[in-house]
Amino acid sequence: MCDAELREVGRIPVCAKCLESPEIVQPEHFCIQCRTAFLNPRPLNEAGLCRLCAAGVTNFEGAYSCGGYDGAMRDLIHLYKYRRVRPLAAHFGKLMARAYPRDQVVDALVPVPMHWRKRLRRGFDQTRALARELSRRTGIPVLRALKKKRHTEAQAGLSRAKRRMNVTGVFQARASVEVRGLHVLLIDDVFTTGATINAAAAALKRAGAARVSVLTLARADRLSDKPAVATAAEVHSLPGASR
Ligand SMILES: [Zn+2]
Ligand SMILES: [Zn+2]
Repeated sequence: MCDAELREVGRIPVCAKCLESPEIVQPEHFCIQCRTAFLNPRPLNEAGLCRLCAAGVTNFEGAYSCGGYDGAMRDLIHLYKYRRVRPLAAHFGKLMARAYPRDQVVDALVPVPMHWRKRLRRGFDQTRALARELSRRTGIPVLRALKKKRHTEAQAGLSRAKRRMNVTGVFQARASVEVRGLHVLLIDDVFTTGATINAAAAALKRAGAARVSVLTLARADRLSDKPAVATAAEVHSLPGASR
């Protein structure tokens, strides 16, 4: 990441300085409904609501994150996801344990699932590995409660409205895993527009989950200058918009 020579042998080819550089961000601005944190007040409307809540389609009760999707955090996530530096999972587990909502009783950790075909191609499920590491630190069990019904186009490069269309109805709760009445913490790597996470949360709510909170490594939307008002087309394509 910084081109410094590595002086110690380790399983992660990143110097200690770069590895420790992502700081847990302590944001000052929160959506009053879903408690999603932002670095500045611009993504919130006058009523203090984020875009999803302003549109009335948020399917989760709270969103927590280790930091913004930029700088060292972004580089580390790329190493993990695309260069397959799998031992980073343990390091991320440590970061997530710090950002974890300690003031709440969480019954289960549910990783946002990958389609089996993608998992086969990539060789491992990076989100499930994160959930396992967090479970090791918190003692909360991992429930593989969701499955991805179809393969979706990569989200990167799609417009906000297309992303939502791409994921609507794509997740399904597994009949064999009981989430009824539970407070579930959804785990994912990056919170981008919230479309994927909101669709996964909708599936858990349909299966009877009492509460769904979200914990991601990083948020890509924290510095968003976008106003907190979704366009009509976006609202129409949001999961749960027809409720
Ligand atoms: Zn370095
Ligand atoms: Zn909100």
